[in-house]
Amino acid sequence: MAENELPESIVICEVGTRDGLQNEKGTVSADDKAALIDAMGKAGFKVIEVGSFVSPRAVPQMANTDEVFARIHKIPGVEYRALIANLRGVDRAIACGCKKVKLNVSASTAHNLANLNCTPEQSVNRFAACVARAKEAGIGISGSISMVFGSPWDKEIPISSVEKIVEAYLSVGVSEISLSDASGMAYPVQVKEICRHMKKAYPEVKWWLHFHNTRGLGIANIMAGMECGFTNFDTSFAGVGGCPFVPGAAGNVATEDVLHMCDESGIKTGIDLDQAIEISRQVVKILGHTTDSYILRAGKAKDLIREIPKRQIQNQALKK
Ligand code: ZN
Repeated sequence: MAENELPESIVICEVGTRDGLQNEKGTVSADDKAALIDAMGKAGFKVIEVGSFVSPRAVPQMANTDEVFARIHKIPGVEYRALIANLRGVDRAIACGCKKVKLNVSASTAHNLANLNCTPEQSVNRFAACVARAKEAGIGISGSISMVFGSPWDKEIPISSVEKIVEAYLSVGVSEISLSDASGMAYPVQVKEICRHMKKAYPEVKWWLHFHNTRGLGIANIMAGMECGFTNFDTSFAGVGGCPFVPGAAGNVATEDVLHMCDESGIKTGIDLDQAIEISRQVVKILGHTTDSYILRAGKAKDLIREIPKRQIQNQALKK
């Protein structure tokens, strides 16, 4: 693909049941989550982030992830993944038949030193045991780097810091990596700079991009990523979500907004937009509050096109 050309197709990972719902006040039941995930499978989603296997005390909204996995009617060819933080997470994944897990580290050295007393790459090196156990159990493992595009603790994240983390991931055997903007600080020119650099420096990596729409730049950032040949993106139904460390953080770009943009632009996603909109409507109903979704508010552009009532045409004709 030549630079600045848009891809023919992209892959969307629906992260609403994890990133979206973990930031909600209440917990959505395992039944409701499983029903949403089953509907996603039918709508054509090929990658779904079901939840996370982390401490239920830290993230009570994700405490029922094991139960959700048990209730999903798994569709062959669909990847149902979960976020983990340690070996205990891998063991929970093994126990409930989850076949893909994702690790995460913050790109902010200041954040990592304050929290864990080690650098981000040292954190990644400690993941080696998780990778080994997952691989032994036939579970795929990927890594994510949050705050790549800026963090509340650093004016900016040097690209060399991100490189060190990527190299640490590669050294422990993780070559599928997500560049994440939990802080909602990314902007398109920066996205292009980082994406071009990373793609060239690490061609062996399968990349994902994960943007939050905190400052309204989510879709622009996705387009910027696409123009650099990135084709895997996380989105969240109805735009649900936030980030507990970041004041005013919004959710990921709304899935239906991205699908609508792709439909209008002729970029294939394999996902039925109308069904995705229906899922997001269902989410809003379950949560009982409105969310940041343009398409839920305004509908599809195509739905706006309607016949002009005859009388109006006649009146127009009379004026001429
Ligand atoms: Zn996120």
